[in-house]
Amino acid sequence: MVPYDESVPPTRRRRSLLAATALATVCLSAAGCGAGDAGAGAPARPGPGGSAAATSPSTPPSASPSKSAPAPKKTSPSPTRSAPPAGGNSGPLSGKTVVIDPGHNPNNHLHTREINRQVDIGTTHKECDTTGTSTNSGYAEARFTLDVSHRLRTLLQKQGAKVVLTYDNDRTYGPCVDERARIGNEARADAVVSVHADGSAVGNRGFHVILPGPVRGGAADTSKIVEPSRDLGTRIAGLFVRATGSAPSNYVGGNTGLDVRKDLGGLNLSTVPKVFIECGNMRDPKDAALLTSAGWRQKAAQGIADGISSYLNG
Ligand SMILES: [Zn+2]
Repeated sequence: MVPYDESVPPTRRRRSLLAATALATVCLSAAGCGAGDAGAGAPARPGPGGSAAATSPSTPPSASPSKSAPAPKKTSPSPTRSAPPAGGNSGPLSGKTVVIDPGHNPNNHLHTREINRQVDIGTTHKECDTTGTSTNSGYAEARFTLDVSHRLRTLLQKQGAKVVLTYDNDRTYGPCVDERARIGNEARADAVVSVHADGSAVGNRGFHVILPGPVRGGAADTSKIVEPSRDLGTRIAGLFVRATGSAPSNYVGGNTGLDVRKDLGGLNLSTVPKVFIECGNMRDPKDAALLTSAGWRQKAAQGIADGISSYLNG
């Protein structure tokens, strides 16, 4: 999930404010959870152990990250780079670099203080990262995003792309949203996709792709990525429908499957074409049945891969 903040329309803001009140220690904004959970009247479940984390941020101070000091070894590895594709760099995506950003981290709920740390997203400051949402049965969004990202990586590598993951179960929390953007920038990615699933009210169904809006402030300047990101996102939305059979969201984007946001650090700080995708609503039982299916997740990954391929092949 990617909760809204005060820069978004009032209807969304109301939900976000409710979320901020009810879920402040569970869903911490920036890139995941929040809005819809409040609408559903139920707090997000960040997976096993998540509720305890909301009241026990007892990690030693030495574990707190600092941009100016070396972070703990386990929390700041280099971005996970893919091994060279089997058979060399042949394939239609040879020479292309794709960064995949698995939303959240399964262990964020154990590091509330660290992920609450404010980071500069150019236009404002937001939390480092968020816990994300989960299905009612406890399947965490962060597990979903990593699984789909792995499937997506495999599909893209088969086409010859160089693939970089922003993290790959190699950190205790995060990365922060500003670092997630920076990894894509430093990789000079041809395309970046941040994978998520939403946490909205029951009956709210379907996927939507989030596009960067025009923002400028501090380190944020999306003027060069708005247009190519829309192209990337539009292709992903269309091909996601084809691969999964899922309909565009019935609660965001007016059934277009596309939404534009100006409040997400991961988009605002990106200098390369980037979109988020909310693959479905984990809080809706029918969507949850899809999201928890490995077979469906493969289709979801295929749809995203098809969209990326279409964009990169022009
Ligand atoms: Zn999310």
